[in-house]
Amino acid sequence: MRAEVLIVGGGPGGSAAAMFLLKERIQPVILEQEEFPRFHIGESMTGEAGALLRRLGLEDAMTARNYPVKHGVRVFGEGGKNSWFIPVSARNERWELESGTTWQVRRSDFDGMMLDEAAKRGATLIRGTAVKALLGEDGGVRGVTMRHPDGCLEDIESTMLLDCTGMATFLGNQKVTGPKYLGSYDKQIAFFAHVKGAVRDSGDAGEMARDNTVIFYEKKYHWSWFIPVDKEITSIGLVVPRAKFIESKQTPQEFFLDYLPQINPDLERRIAGFELVDKVHVIPNYSYQVRRFCGKGFICIGDAHRFIDPIFSFGLSATMREAEFAIPHILSYLKGERRAEENPFAGHMLFCEQGIDNLEDMVDLFWEQPFAFATFVHQRYRSELIDAFAGRVYATEYQPSTAILAFRKMLKRERGYEHEDDYSIPIGSRYHPERAALWAPDSPVETTEEWLNSNLA
Ligand SMILES: Cc1cc2nc3c(=O)[nH]c(=O)nc-3n(C[C@H](O)[C@H](O)[C@H](O)COP(=O)(O)OP(=O)(O)OC[C@H]3O[C@@H](n4cnc5c(N)ncnc54)[C@H](O)[C@@H]3O)c2cc1C
Repeated sequence: MRAEVLIVGGGPGGSAAAMFLLKERIQPVILEQEEFPRFHIGESMTGEAGALLRRLGLEDAMTARNYPVKHGVRVFGEGGKNSWFIPVSARNERWELESGTTWQVRRSDFDGMMLDEAAKRGATLIRGTAVKALLGEDGGVRGVTMRHPDGCLEDIESTMLLDCTGMATFLGNQKVTGPKYLGSYDKQIAFFAHVKGAVRDSGDAGEMARDNTVIFYEKKYHWSWFIPVDKEITSIGLVVPRAKFIESKQTPQEFFLDYLPQINPDLERRIAGFELVDKVHVIPNYSYQVRRFCGKGFICIGDAHRFIDPIFSFGLSATMREAEFAIPHILSYLKGERRAEENPFAGHMLFCEQGIDNLEDMVDLFWEQPFAFATFVHQRYRSELIDAFAGRVYATEYQPSTAILAFRKMLKRERGYEHEDDYSIPIGSRYHPERAALWAPDSPVETTEEWLNSNLA
């Protein structure tokens, strides 16, 4: 089989890429290994993720599905005494800040809607798993070998391959990219479940809107999320250093239920009468960065090359925006431009990486200096942080802002992009030079089940 553009992975990144290509009359093939609906984490969107869905013409579909409308995020500080609020925002044509709304989604439903919509608009959907990258004589990617559900293998040749496989980091594992580096927050573990009976705020709009995201901070690297995903169900997550869980010798569910009320009094109040509606899910070691994630015939998008920390809900925003940013580069490559270059997508790679670097500096400053961060939200950098929380973190959006530059100074961090291979120096609040050994080019990626089995044995 042959595809001009082959998208491996039919999550929101893959589906958004397909829909943007279809707008340009390119009909991609999407290869997705799972039958949808399937559970996935990542339920709260930024303002720019919402704006992107509107650009794809999906506002009516989102409204028809009654997804909770998010007006902002409230972050409760230690002990639940103080909190700060960031509204969802947009920028108009004159780059003036305006208030906005976005959505919270149940991913099993949202991802299915996105994939169906991409297929309805003209993408070809194939069920199966990419098992091997096919390389051309020039070292570029020329497709994949896939395994069909019945076990048969087939080659799909492509001019352009988009790796949208999320944390599975298909091309990273195939060593087509540079090495995979364990990121700043790799020693964390996240537990999460859907619950009934959690107490929300009571307003219809703005700061007290019932469907806003709430984040609860206990202390450094210990926090919880509270995300309404429909009228009744709330997604609640708990994130701690994984050593804490291992020491507890509890099962994930025991640990989740015991620890959650201790995170913050305001969370304790909200979950007093809650009830689990499904199992407690676990993801350890979620922070990583794949180097040189673009090259001849391929681009890795979103989680397929980098994930920092889920605290401020940037994942969907980054993956769907990177899909949109990639489109002009893909079109010119398909026309035959830049084919002889070592990395035809070097500019796109730098652009995406710098955007995520800006996010990383903001998240790190929050963890290192939470009190200073709270005063910046209230006063000195309010509009800069409203922009960043909306997902406007890219160079075309006046970034790095004065806030990000100030955070870098406070973190004593320099970002240098002079040499091609320095496009994003792997640093972060917990990076130490000796940890360079943790670059993981040869270590297999452990699944959550493997990790739990080996650590609970
Ligand atoms: C604890 C936690 C909380 C989070 N909370 C949020 C949040 O509140 N908001 C937010 O925006 N983001 C959040 N995220 C991040 C979010 O989950 C991801 O950024 C987002 O799902 C990435 O979308 P994607 O399409 O790139 O990848 P995915 O959604 O992971 O989709 C990848 C798809 O590729 C398929 N696939 C994988 N390998 C293959 C293969 N070899 N062949 C064929 N198909 C394959 C998979 O089956 C999957 O369907 C969170 C992440 C974590 C870890």
